[in-house]
Amino acid sequence: MGKVYLTGAGPGDIELLTLKAFRLVKDADVIIYDRLANPDILKEAKDGCKFIYVGKKDSHHTLPQEEINELIYQNALQYEIVVRLKGGDPLVFGRGGEEAIYLRERNIDFEFIPGITSAIAVPEYAGIPVTHRGVTVSFRVVTGHESRDKKSSQIPWENYKTDDTIIFLMGLHRLKYISSKLIEIGKPKDYPVAVISRGTTNQEKTIIGTLENIYQKAKDLPTPALIVVGKVVNLREQLNWFE
Ligand code: SAH
Repeated sequence: MGKVYLTGAGPGDIELLTLKAFRLVKDADVIIYDRLANPDILKEAKDGCKFIYVGKKDSHHTLPQEEINELIYQNALQYEIVVRLKGGDPLVFGRGGEEAIYLRERNIDFEFIPGITSAIAVPEYAGIPVTHRGVTVSFRVVTGHESRDKKSSQIPWENYKTDDTIIFLMGLHRLKYISSKLIEIGKPKDYPVAVISRGTTNQEKTIIGTLENIYQKAKDLPTPALIVVGKVVNLREQLNWFE
């Protein structure tokens, strides 16, 4: 029986992979990877390493989660070093916890290998610090992709009246809804928003706008993309360094 390494691949730029993840990729007998993990990482694997793609495109799942869990388990029965490679950090909207529970219930050993999450690194490449002295004292990372079958929103919108930085992942297709919700709870229409597409890669593109106009400006950006709402967005004027 093998061991499963639930491994963060970082946000895109291959050099943002941790040394630990890099070592495991080199040693892996099998790598089960997502759409968001930079595929160039696979070039570092040893000869004979088996690659399995279980990519998900936005809400459209190539494989249901239950099947992914089972696939990881089956590979752990056959191979010694199983790397489950995920974009960003495996536990930030990465379902790494669910996969680990599934393995533990079947007596398979696992480790979590943290990765650099897009939630912080992507704004950083765009010149937007998630906190900044005198501007904001905290930040939140929120899913923009709530299940639609629920009648009422699970997001506690009323709590978002403060000037905390809010980073929405998986939210591009709900940008209009998110901005109108924030206006509804009382944020000014000209409150700053950034949408960053394909962050930390050479295709990175950032669009700056306000709660009122960001939807028109950014709706056609390619995914993956994340949304940053907050006064820290204004710092990009001084801090843009990558694009
Ligand atoms: N575990 C991942 C997040 C998974 S949710 C992490 O820690 O980064 C997937 C969402 O992450 C995407 O819908 C998008 O909002 C965001 N994302 C991931 N990589 C990104 C990138 N390179 N640029 C912009 N957004 C990204």
